[in-house]
Amino acid sequence: CGIVGYVGAKECTAILVNSLTKLEYRGYDSAGIAVFEGDRIKTVKAKGKLKEGLIKKLENEPHFTATAGIGHTRWATHGEPSDINSHPIGNGRVSIVHNGIIENYRKLKEFLISKGYGFESQTDTEAVAKLLDYNYDGDPIDTIIRTIADIEGAYSLGIMFREHKNRIFAARKESPLIVGKGKGEMFIASDVTAIIEYTREYYLLEPGEVADITADGVTFYDMHKNVIEKELQV
Ligand code: GLU
Repeated sequence: CGIVGYVGAKECTAILVNSLTKLEYRGYDSAGIAVFEGDRIKTVKAKGKLKEGLIKKLENEPHFTATAGIGHTRWATHGEPSDINSHPIGNGRVSIVHNGIIENYRKLKEFLISKGYGFESQTDTEAVAKLLDYNYDGDPIDTIIRTIADIEGAYSLGIMFREHKNRIFAARKESPLIVGKGKGEMFIASDVTAIIEYTREYYLLEPGEVADITADGVTFYDMHKNVIEKELQV
C-alpha cells in the first residue's frame, strides 16, 4: 500500500519508520523495513499497526547502523495479514517492497518452483522477489529490466540487492512512485507526504522507468537501458 526508502549518511531506521507513519492515513494491516546492516540485508516486519507491530519489534533489536533501506505498509491483496506475508519480501540476496497486484504471479511461481525455488508466503510479491533472484547476473539494472518485462499488473517496487550496498532501486507501472532529492541523501516514496519533512524536491517515476539511487543522486533508465533525463519537481 505504501512504499518508502532512504539512502544517505544518517542512520535510516528511524527515518523509514517516521516516513511510514506519514502514510498511515492510507490504511494498512502490516509494516516492515529492510536495511543494509553490515554485509547483510536485515529485515524486521510485523502484522498490525506500526505502534503495536513494527515499532515494538524494533525496540527489541540491537542498535542499527544502517544508512540505506526500504520500508512498506501493506494492504493485503494476496495472502492474509501475517508476519510472513508482510513486506519487505525476499531472500539473502534480494529484498523488495511492492504496491499493487502482480496478475501473472501464479505462472511465475510455477516456473520458479520448476527451477527449484521454495515459497514461504502466500503473496503475489514473492514471485517478483524470486524472479529477480533467478534473473540476477550481477548487474542490477539488467536484472530489473529483464524481470519487469515478465511481470503483468499494476505495481510499484522498491528493490535492494545485498551485493550492492547502500544503493536502492525503484520501478513502477501504474502505482505511483517518487524519488526525493535531499542534500547528500535520497528518498523513494509512494506519496510526497511521506518525505515532505525531509525534502520538497522530487522526480516523478514514470511507468517503464527504473531508478538507480545512491546518496549522491539518481540515474533513470528506460526499458532499453538508455539513460533518461528527468525534470526535478519543486
Ligand atoms: N499484493 C501485495 C500483497 O498483497 C501488495 C499489497 C499492497 O499494495 O500493499 O502483499
